[in-house]
Amino acid sequence: MFAEVIFNRPIPPYTYEIPERFRDVKPGLRVEVDLGGSHTVGIVYRILEKSGVKGLKPLLNVLDSSPVLNDDLFKLAEWISYYYICSVGEACWTMIPKGIKKRDVNVDYGLDEKQRPVRSENIKLTPEQKSVVDRLVDAVEKNENRVFLLHGVTGSGKTEVYLRVIDRVIKKGLGAILLVPEISLTPQTVRYFTSRFGEKLAVLHSRLTKAEKVNEWYRILRGEKPIVIGARSAIFAPLERIGAIIVDEEHETSYKSDETPRYNAKSVAYYRTRMHGGILILGSATPSVESYHLAKRGVFTLLELPNRVMNNRLPATKITDLRRSRNSRFLSKALVKAIDDRLRKNEQVILFLNRRGFSSYIFCEDCGHVIKCKNCDISMTYHRDIKKLVCHYCGYSIDPPDLCPNCGSEKLSFSGFGTERIESILNDIFPAAAIVRMDTDTVKRRRALSEILNAFAKKKIDILIGTQIVTKGLHFPDVTLVGVLNADIALNFPDFRAAERTFDLITQVAGRAGRGEKVGEVIIQTYNPSHYAIQTAKNHDYTEFFLREVKFRQAMNYPPFTRIIRLVFRGKNQDKLFDVAGACLDILVKARTGGDDILGPASCPLSKIKKNYRVHVIIKTNSIGNYRNVLVDIGNRIKKTYDVYLEIDIDPISML
Ligand code: ADP
Ligand code: ZN
Ligand code: ZN
Repeated sequence: MFAEVIFNRPIPPYTYEIPERFRDVKPGLRVEVDLGGSHTVGIVYRILEKSGVKGLKPLLNVLDSSPVLNDDLFKLAEWISYYYICSVGEACWTMIPKGIKKRDVNVDYGLDEKQRPVRSENIKLTPEQKSVVDRLVDAVEKNENRVFLLHGVTGSGKTEVYLRVIDRVIKKGLGAILLVPEISLTPQTVRYFTSRFGEKLAVLHSRLTKAEKVNEWYRILRGEKPIVIGARSAIFAPLERIGAIIVDEEHETSYKSDETPRYNAKSVAYYRTRMHGGILILGSATPSVESYHLAKRGVFTLLELPNRVMNNRLPATKITDLRRSRNSRFLSKALVKAIDDRLRKNEQVILFLNRRGFSSYIFCEDCGHVIKCKNCDISMTYHRDIKKLVCHYCGYSIDPPDLCPNCGSEKLSFSGFGTERIESILNDIFPAAAIVRMDTDTVKRRRALSEILNAFAKKKIDILIGTQIVTKGLHFPDVTLVGVLNADIALNFPDFRAAERTFDLITQVAGRAGRGEKVGEVIIQTYNPSHYAIQTAKNHDYTEFFLREVKFRQAMNYPPFTRIIRLVFRGKNQDKLFDVAGACLDILVKARTGGDDILGPASCPLSKIKKNYRVHVIIKTNSIGNYRNVLVDIGNRIKKTYDVYLEIDIDPISML
């Protein structure tokens, strides 16, 4: 007997002989074998009766008593391997928790006293919620195999819908997965779920230790926990029979992995429900253009919650034109006045700026030189608290120079503004207010995020300034003012999804305002007041945004009208990168079908990161499958021949 073993490497399965003492070995068990001269852990993939090859090496050790993966997950790994172009082994290692090492990990992940199940009072669904729940529950009852797009404005009560559907799913004896973009930002959702489902729920927190993760994995595998909540990788939870997968905030880019295999949890969810049954629910206030397009065409079933619960109105939104009102120091007069008003009324304010640090760049007024990171071709950001210029891509930092490194001039100007600078300006204007900044600089510490959120909930903070972190899921009834300090940062990204991101960000952060009884107000500061992404976000008009955006996508042949394959070549020698990319382009052009566009090679918008240059080739096609063999071939050639690293990205979410 022989075993095909797979590894966390870009290599095919290798065959080993099964010695008599391991004759019970079966697929899904981890084993130790000799791979190229060193002892390596692999997973048994298939058992073979015979092998044509003589003198195969034996299995050295079997590490598990029961499989770490079930059959469904093996099939899923095969699909990931095919679709995202990686080895089956790499796909399997992406799925299992990193801590799986020993056979019997026995750490108990006890729930806090606080988190023990409590009877949650029975919320009466609004008529809108009820009709959505009825439709979904009906689909569960009838074992429909269908994708639903739940388009519900912020505060429309989507979470309650999810709870009801999952309740029905587990009553049927099936499992359910709820994906959220980032679990630490959704404490409220997690609390609702723990209080409703208690011990049946596995919360796959990034803060669990490795052992706790492994423990939860086995409990799910054994069927003890039929409900799983977690971020991206929770899509691989080893549930046996799935009734529903829910992807909340489905437009979020964090569902796409940025490491090989570059999977999108949404696509994996789609495949999982397709192959193994169950419904898929994609929920968002700002659905991705791709999903909404499919819903419009009837491929997905569109469900809508157009109103907030309890007749709570969406916030009134104003745009202030930063070009006109010569406002001092990055804050428009209108915004300062509105903040002042809220402080007087003892209400709370959220200010959003998607750039941290003090000044976004330093440039020389004489020669125009901008100080950039030596490892990355990116301007460095001044952080005043540590008095350093920092690269936000690689973390490299230097003391700010006194003279221009290019021409020696003394006229160095600190331009642009980040969260740190806004914090300092606000402290000057409102010395009595409690102002806290929430960005990756201030929440590095493990508990910092929850401390800030708790203080905000207890109204110990008046003004919360933050980056993307503040746009997501927060539910604080006393927040009546939201300011978007610079809507143009997202808009000016060299990416075809820039308008979509801008619309999402504004809508999501605006959705934090007026969630209680008091009406909310949103002020958007911009240099592009007439841009459709900003205008439609102001009017809370997703449909209009979609119509405008889809016209642009069609005219320029971008998704959803085409699919994209992006090849990124990384390496130390830029000329060589262009040579290699050019050679690959020739191969791809030969494989081209129909009118597919194959573009490049060109420097990526982020042309150098961490000392590596980056060059890309972009394929626009509606038949990705036609390129698969050629891509595998290119991948293999590059691995053998060149000192160049290739990333293959199917359906990329970032073009930078
Ligand atoms: P969304 O996820 O759509 O932005 P949430 O699910 O966070 O909205 O709901 C917003 C708030 O409304 C929550 O505090 C929730 O408990 C409450 N809520 C939801 N449904 C109802 C209902 N039928 N009646 C009263 N309150 C509700
Ligand atoms: Zn200069
Ligand atoms: Zn850098």
